[in-house]
Amino acid sequence: MLTTAEALDAILASVPDAGAKVVSIDRALNRILRQSVHAERDQPPFDRVTMDGIAISHADFMAGKRQFPIQAMQAAGDPALTLEPGHAIEIMTGASLPDGADCIVPVERIAVANGAAEIEAGYAAEQRQFIHARGSDHLKGTELLAPGTRISPMDIAIIASCGLTEIAVSSAPAIRVISTGNELVPPGEPIAPHQIRMSNGPALIAMLASHGFSDCSHDHLVDDPELLKEHIGRHLDAADVLVLSGGVSMGKADFLPEVLDSLGVDVVFHKISQRPGKPMWFGLGPRQQAVFALPGNPVSALVCCRQYVIPALNAAAGLRPRPPEFASLARDVTFKPRLTCFLPVRLVYSVGGPVLAMPVHTNTSGDFASLSGTDGYVELALEQTDFPSGTPAQLHRWREA
Ligand code: AMP
Ligand code: MG
Repeated sequence: MLTTAEALDAILASVPDAGAKVVSIDRALNRILRQSVHAERDQPPFDRVTMDGIAISHADFMAGKRQFPIQAMQAAGDPALTLEPGHAIEIMTGASLPDGADCIVPVERIAVANGAAEIEAGYAAEQRQFIHARGSDHLKGTELLAPGTRISPMDIAIIASCGLTEIAVSSAPAIRVISTGNELVPPGEPIAPHQIRMSNGPALIAMLASHGFSDCSHDHLVDDPELLKEHIGRHLDAADVLVLSGGVSMGKADFLPEVLDSLGVDVVFHKISQRPGKPMWFGLGPRQQAVFALPGNPVSALVCCRQYVIPALNAAAGLRPRPPEFASLARDVTFKPRLTCFLPVRLVYSVGGPVLAMPVHTNTSGDFASLSGTDGYVELALEQTDFPSGTPAQLHRWREA
């Protein structure tokens, strides 16, 4: 049986690159950038005035001059004027500094009468104050965004500021989520006492969407080998990635491994030394489609999706990996089985202290209701059984911060 690290390595080594495509900027949010973005111009592109007021020559001010005839008005978007000696130009925030001016006096510090501005007595005007110097943020050609970046609203601002209307991002994989089980009834339909509500389908779709993978559809199939083969075969033809839930344990109705084998999906591994999620199965379809078969227990399905499916999709998309994150256990934990334990936690923050991971009791790996309000889970090493309060543990957030 593979360890959790071996399983993730095997998956990352198998999944093919998702490829790139060009999209318009309004479709780029949360996608993974596949190109560099370089500054179109110096930023700011000119000496930019940052206060409404007047632009004067600092030498005039130092020579004792306090009253300046107003030569003209220059607003943001107006070409730079040339300041005449001894004069002031009324200037607005965002305007480019007039030639010959090197001093801005804010409007609050002046009085205007009879076409002249008078500077408040005692005001000490400074040379180049309230001027955002050309190129002081960055120079033309600077790499502002690198490939592998998940595009945030701030990155959209950068892309737009570089004059780009479209951008190369990773192609979105077509994902099919397929839940299985005779006992499962979708919400909205009548349910008998011996039946269970089907929740993994919508939950897995939502988790994928929360990580930016929204080309997903869901199908539910009953535990019938012929029917599973027919329907999964069709999904396999149409999709890049299959995420199945249920039917991979050792029960008599757990047909997925043999059905997938009969469809030409080569098994890469079956079972990982972990709890929850030990029965997880992973294989590659005839077109190298990644096929993740997650155990049906709702907690197992969600943990396995976060732990294996999301990193695989991120790697295929070319996302730059982040360094691992750690949190300190907020109480003692004992876990006896020789398995890696993924323990759901709620994070507790305090001023100046470490981030604490408060374990949340789950009754069984089917107790999904206790996951609400958790931030993620910590990973407790397989070879250890006792984890005293304060032990640092790797944290996996349901959603990356
Ligand atoms: P399985 O892995 O198919 O043996 O399922 C394990 C347990 O998880 C069973 O109790 C199932 O009823 C439950 N389960 C499986 N799939 C789902 C689902 N889509 N939604 C909710 N519970 C499920
Ligand atoms: Mg089942």
